[in-house]
Amino acid sequence: TIDKNLDHLARGILSRPGRLLIAGKWVSGASDELADVINPATTDVIGEVSIARDVDVDAAVIAARRAFEDGPWPRMTAGERARLIWKLADAIDGHSDELATLESLNGGNPFESNRQFDVRVAAERLRYNAGWTNKIGGMVPLAPTHGELFSYSMREPVGVVGAITPWNAPLIMAVGKIAPAVAAGCTIVLKPSELTPFTALRLGELAMEVGFPDGVINIVTGFGADVGQALVNHRDVNKISFTGSTRVGKSILAASADRLKRVTLELGGKSPIIIFPDADVEAAARATVAGIFFKSGQFCAAGTRVFAHRKIYDRVVAEMARVAKSVRIGDPLEVGTDMGPLISAAQLARVEAYVDGARKAGAEIVAEGGDTVGRGYFHPAMVLGGLKVDASAMQEEIFGPVLCVSAFDDDGGLDEVIKLANASDYGLAAYLWTRDVSVVHRMARSIRAGSISVNGARGAGNEGLPFGGYNQSGIGREGGSLGVEGHTEIKTVNIAI
Ligand code: NAD
Repeated sequence: TIDKNLDHLARGILSRPGRLLIAGKWVSGASDELADVINPATTDVIGEVSIARDVDVDAAVIAARRAFEDGPWPRMTAGERARLIWKLADAIDGHSDELATLESLNGGNPFESNRQFDVRVAAERLRYNAGWTNKIGGMVPLAPTHGELFSYSMREPVGVVGAITPWNAPLIMAVGKIAPAVAAGCTIVLKPSELTPFTALRLGELAMEVGFPDGVINIVTGFGADVGQALVNHRDVNKISFTGSTRVGKSILAASADRLKRVTLELGGKSPIIIFPDADVEAAARATVAGIFFKSGQFCAAGTRVFAHRKIYDRVVAEMARVAKSVRIGDPLEVGTDMGPLISAAQLARVEAYVDGARKAGAEIVAEGGDTVGRGYFHPAMVLGGLKVDASAMQEEIFGPVLCVSAFDDDGGLDEVIKLANASDYGLAAYLWTRDVSVVHRMARSIRAGSISVNGARGAGNEGLPFGGYNQSGIGREGGSLGVEGHTEIKTVNIAI
């Protein structure tokens, strides 16, 4: 079990209920309404979160607008902004155990995984974006095209960003919204998921401690249908950056149309994993099952539809069954835990309903593992076989530790497996296992997905490259230069000389 002092530190923020970060101050919302926040591993209430009202959202947007136009923020040099962002990254590193603990207590994912992955990614994402503060800009064409004009383009921050994040990787999500926004000179109002607000709130505290000017980063908490929607509908928000389900993403896009707000959507996925016969079959099977343990399968880019070549199908299934059996499900704060619970009773019921539906549709459980323990929202790791391509478990995002596996037959040609891989409304990621470089390139070209990983890489790759989805997995890209540029407008200036 992890150090009790860390538990105590992390619990510090849990004991400060009902606070919103508006204009650099911690304030209580207009209503006194609080909602319980639960530890999904125990179902215990671990704290409370303020349910903000429209007036709170309004106050946060006014603060963000003021900070965008007045105050020190718009007058800061690129270097001054970069140093602040870098300091926040250092603060995350300096509190990595505390943040990982908090993320475990609230999100249910194993401490070590939070520390090794989430906290590191969060700090690196800030540092990467800090580097853009003095590099992003416009251009001056070499020569005029129409008469004696001096022409140039310039980028400007888009303004006030409204950011809405889900519960599955709360710290990374909060940082992922804040980092490119502030690097581009924007100000932000962040609404974290009501289920997992604490690391975002702690991040807000750290941002204040390292010296972000008042109003640059504001955090309002509460439910999506009121606080989230109020942010989306607010007339003075210039851009909505949303990560969450495709269903809510669509409603946000529709609501943003009224004022033509800029919108970036990072939505769901149903990503294929394709194992070719020449691959290191056992390694592929192991990585595939380990991938679905990660955040208990509650990971947008998780590989969930496994297509194994018929020649090696039995070997893949046998190895998956062996690995699934060995998974240690349990207390996220216990050393050695591979997989924690799902986030909520509703999520557990959703996953169970998919498994029931799949079994009724003729699926069999070809691999299963991990004893569910205690009162938490635990679900075993599971691999379902024998599903048709149009079965709902094959088409819809389950968001739990459940894989679907089937065989494909192509020998030489790739048409069948490409068709299978693309038989989805989503298009976030795809995973390939083969040693044949020609197959890698042909598949990478043919699969309609925002990221392709080969022989073991995870969905999240290099901070320097874009991340996002084809089809109904989203609109726009986060990460890389596009992530920062997505927080700017571009203006062309023509001067007669
Ligand atoms: P969700 O869509 O239910 O909620 C996401 C956020 O939106 C929450 O903060 C919620 O309060 C808010 N919200 C809900 N309804 C709203 C509305 N009408 N208006 C404004 N805001 C509203 O998603 P979730 O269940 O929290 O998260 C799981 C989903 O997130 C999965 O579909 C997953 O694939 C997706 N996700 C995508 C990525 C990505 O980068 N593509 C990353 C992580 C998670």
